[in-house]
Amino acid sequence: MRRPIVIGNWKMNGSLESSRQLVLAIGEKAVDDCGADIGVCVPFVFIPEVSSLLDGSRVLVGSQNVADRPAGAYTGEVSAQMLKEFGCTLAIVGHSERRALYGESNELVAERFRQAVGEGLVPVLCVGETLDQRQQGKTFDIINAQLDAVLDTSGTEALDGVIVAYEPVWAIGSGMTATDEQAQEVHQYIRNRVAGRNQTIARALRIVYGGSVKPDNAARLFSMPDIDGGLIGGASLEADSFLSICCSV
Ligand code: PEP
Repeated sequence: MRRPIVIGNWKMNGSLESSRQLVLAIGEKAVDDCGADIGVCVPFVFIPEVSSLLDGSRVLVGSQNVADRPAGAYTGEVSAQMLKEFGCTLAIVGHSERRALYGESNELVAERFRQAVGEGLVPVLCVGETLDQRQQGKTFDIINAQLDAVLDTSGTEALDGVIVAYEPVWAIGSGMTATDEQAQEVHQYIRNRVAGRNQTIARALRIVYGGSVKPDNAARLFSMPDIDGGLIGGASLEADSFLSICCSV
């Protein structure tokens, strides 16, 4: 049985003070275990403060990226080891904004994934197609390429315990959610593709959906058999809406 997980992606939002307020409200209200794990992936600079405020709570802390190398002359990067030192357990890799706006290739994402796993962080590997790619019938080709880069670089066993986020690019921040059936179809496809290499890992793999999840559509999406929770952008910036989504599992 897979335990659902709902993860907030704050992106580049908030100030130190607003982050404190948000995380205190989440920590305070997340005491009830409503059946889902909960995480927040916050801007790098807020990680120490958020980790210390959430110390002892059940809310996990994560980053929104991680370096593709362990250490050295890589200006602007933050290593997996550094993230662990400041209380992170999760690290988003391959978010579509990183891929599209900062040119991160499948190969680079796979190296970031490898570093996260190597240090014992749980990567949240984002995959998903653009609207153009969907309309051209290329959704599964795109997913294959994104997933296979990771599988080929790290090996299938590296997927043990990680999280995959299916995030159709056209649904992110657009208010256009994939239908439950559209999302389920791709989630099932991902699970089957991993099952082609290792059935046990595929069965245990948590595959979460991201793309305009809100309190009013979360329950339907999360009720689909291969959807194991969500990666939430906009709606994670407000404690009540985020927790309402968390408890929609
Ligand atoms: C995201 O950025 O991962 C995301 C899913 O954003 P939103 O929920 O705002 O669509």
